[in-house]
Amino acid sequence: MHRLHRAQLFPGARLRYGGGTSWRAVVELPGRTDDGFVALWGPRAEFGTVPISDTELHWYGYVPSPAGVRSDDELAATVAHFSGWSPHVRAVLAATGPDRLLRHDVHHLPGGLPRYVHGRTALIGDAAHAVLPTMGQGADTSLEDGVCVGRLVAAPVSAGAPLAGALAAFDRARRPRCRRIARRSLQTARLGAHLGGGWPQTARNAVLRHVPAGPLAEAGTGVLRWTPPATTAP
Ligand SMILES: Cc1cc2nc3c(=O)[nH]c(=O)nc-3n(C[C@H](O)[C@H](O)[C@H](O)COP(=O)(O)OP(=O)(O)OC[C@H]3O[C@@H](n4cnc5c(N)ncnc54)[C@H](O)[C@@H]3O)c2cc1C
Repeated sequence: MHRLHRAQLFPGARLRYGGGTSWRAVVELPGRTDDGFVALWGPRAEFGTVPISDTELHWYGYVPSPAGVRSDDELAATVAHFSGWSPHVRAVLAATGPDRLLRHDVHHLPGGLPRYVHGRTALIGDAAHAVLPTMGQGADTSLEDGVCVGRLVAAPVSAGAPLAGALAAFDRARRPRCRRIARRSLQTARLGAHLGGGWPQTARNAVLRHVPAGPLAEAGTGVLRWTPPATTAP
């Protein structure tokens, strides 16, 4: 299901600019020593790296910005923006070729659609609930939607269950979860990439340093745990 259809089915739904733009690339870094996801928060910016193979990293640099701002040399602009950051960030940028660099302004659908089904149609992924990327969950929840279409709609309907009830079960399963993740993505943006420098950043860092790692990780990632629903049979 695509936004063309969303506009037809939910003409009141409006994408909104989320206030940030993102540079991204995949780079070859054969000598890298990190082995997990790294996210760094600076004043009004976030930089993250994710290993995707033994030799490749995916990185992103997300910064608040007016919509539509572009540079003649995006790589130079990225390097300048993150010039004072850690050696890891600078090494990743130094390994990036201009032809690998992507830049996208980030739009979202605040609150998501009022419901994810309309008549005989289920809306999934960004069409139903485009969120800020600050929890990294847009594609994940799209995949979850796909699993739920299979288990809550396709399987029971092909076994004889009425479509309307199956679609309603899909909506009940997906909407609260995706809304929770959308809210958390906004909160994370406020606490992270969208937070200004100076005292707000100092205060945030001081508070976070005093929260034990376990509860902090749970607060940050507990919402991401998900158990696929059992297939419903008629
Ligand atoms: C900067 C940034 C960083 C992100 N980081 C993460 C992350 O770390 N983790 C994560 O899980 N998610 C992340 N996301 C979100 C993720 O990319 C999206 O949530 C995901 O791609 C949504 O998938 P989708 O299939 O719903 O939509 P899309 O990926 O937008 O796919 C829709 C497809 O439909 C095609 N299409 C358009 N018009 C038509 C038409 N008329 N007819 C037929 N086809 C059409 C489009 O070309 C496109 O291929 C990020 C997004 C951005 C912008």
